[in-house]
Amino acid sequence: MIKISRRKALAVLGAIALPPAALPTKAQQRLVLNDASGLNPTPVFSHWHVQKDEEKTLIEQLRRELKEAAAAKRAVSVGAARHSMGGQALARNGVAMTFDVNRVELDRSAKTYRAHAGTRWHQVIAHLDPAGFSPLVLQSNADFGIGATFSVNAHGWATPHGPFGSTVRSIRLLLADGTLVTCSRTENAELFGHAMGGYGLFGIILDLEVEMVENQLLRPHFDVMPAGDFATRFIQLANDPAVRMIYGRLNVARTAFLSEALLVTFRGETTPVSGLPPASQKAPLGDLPRRVYRAQIDSERGKSFRWFMERSAAPYLASGIVTRNNLLNKPVAGLRNRDPRRTDILHEYFVPPERFGDFLAGCRRIIPKAQAEFLNVTLRHVKKDMTSTLTYAGTDRIAAVMSFSQRIEPRFEGDMIATTEQLIDLVASLGGSFYLPYRLHARPDQISRIYPDVVRFFDRKRHFDPGMLFRNTMWETYFA
Ligand SMILES: Cc1cc2nc3c(=O)[nH]c(=O)nc-3n(C[C@H](O)[C@H](O)[C@H](O)COP(=O)(O)OP(=O)(O)OC[C@H]3O[C@@H](n4cnc5c(N)ncnc54)[C@H](O)[C@@H]3O)c2cc1C
Repeated sequence: MIKISRRKALAVLGAIALPPAALPTKAQQRLVLNDASGLNPTPVFSHWHVQKDEEKTLIEQLRRELKEAAAAKRAVSVGAARHSMGGQALARNGVAMTFDVNRVELDRSAKTYRAHAGTRWHQVIAHLDPAGFSPLVLQSNADFGIGATFSVNAHGWATPHGPFGSTVRSIRLLLADGTLVTCSRTENAELFGHAMGGYGLFGIILDLEVEMVENQLLRPHFDVMPAGDFATRFIQLANDPAVRMIYGRLNVARTAFLSEALLVTFRGETTPVSGLPPASQKAPLGDLPRRVYRAQIDSERGKSFRWFMERSAAPYLASGIVTRNNLLNKPVAGLRNRDPRRTDILHEYFVPPERFGDFLAGCRRIIPKAQAEFLNVTLRHVKKDMTSTLTYAGTDRIAAVMSFSQRIEPRFEGDMIATTEQLIDLVASLGGSFYLPYRLHARPDQISRIYPDVVRFFDRKRHFDPGMLFRNTMWETYFA
């Protein structure tokens, strides 16, 4: 009998999933969707791009779709920007829906807004900015859908906050049987916790009621320090009420790998009498940051130059005082890969601050051996979240967001799987966790160790969705 290791098998499957080997059959050719990684071409039965929501009409249409899909035993999966990287918003031969509706209504006195789940963050900012408001928590980029952000329970870099779910008051959720329910911490609280970070597996989110804050001017401050000093200083500043936004970076050139840290904080400034400048997505330095970032690939010199730009030049080149909304409004395109032979793969690990030194020591052992190019690690602060069933922050955490540039070839896929397994083992041994919206490379034992409530998640899914209507590639790979 020929024995094939899981790693080899996954690498082979990865190869099958990579173009051009995965060309669909003729019948499927019209309907193959992919996600931001480009590594998940998935044939779907149908794709509905939802761009209009006339409330009752959409709900009725959705109910009809759910009924038909259930009768045909087809999976249903809703997505927005499809920047998750493992088919979390795609089901093979299922019904795919893309929510893309721009609708936001403000309640200034309650300091909340109600947004359609398909609204992208840059659209939310465009609604809030003229009224002098700003979102509380969102990802580092503004391209993503707000319902999707709740479904992965993303975190941001405003401080001191937990993940996005901690700023959401309520959602309206359409269940598998067509029932529409409002979920919050006091109404259908159980479903609220399952849907928060629940990857669309409990129902379709129609809209969300979310907290907002005043927009304001912020002044940056840059500090460089040995990486070993970073965690203590970072946690202290992240909990300083004067600090509104905070992030860190580490150097990635091999000669001094992860030895130095940059800590950037933003504090409030007095608003000028003339008011705040309007939010924009314009990059003050044009394409320069992208070119410097990309020049790191296959080049140690490029990595050292980029670090020089980050630590020494950026404080002078940065435009200085900036509005909160401008900081939050960055498009993904700012660093985009344009090489068709490569793809950018993100990883993210949530580390208990007191174990951060051990985490760095482990990364120094594991990452330099990887065949993919390690381009960046950004550090964020995430407050504890006990609402989401699949929480990744059972205690306050330092989030390490890593970016690799991977060649689109089978052997690089196999190597990425091995690197991911090692990094997950490392973070698990330190009491931390990893983030689910990226490649599906965790082993089953790693999922159950880091997400012990997955058993309850599965049980309750069976209760609320007995026909297993809401499914996606992550469900099939990790949970089914
Ligand atoms: C460049 C880049 C930067 C990133 N930065 C961060 C960051 O700073 N912080 C962070 O936490 N994450 C970050 N991420 C991860 C990101 O938050 C997730 O990939 C997120 O899913 C992206 O949103 P999307 O609109 O692309 O979601 P999609 O990939 O379209 O969907 C994600 C999940 O949400 C579900 N879903 C979508 N809409 C609905 C709905 N209406 N009802 C029910 N379920 C729904 C989908 O089924 C799927 O499971 C980043 C990713 C990239 C590529």
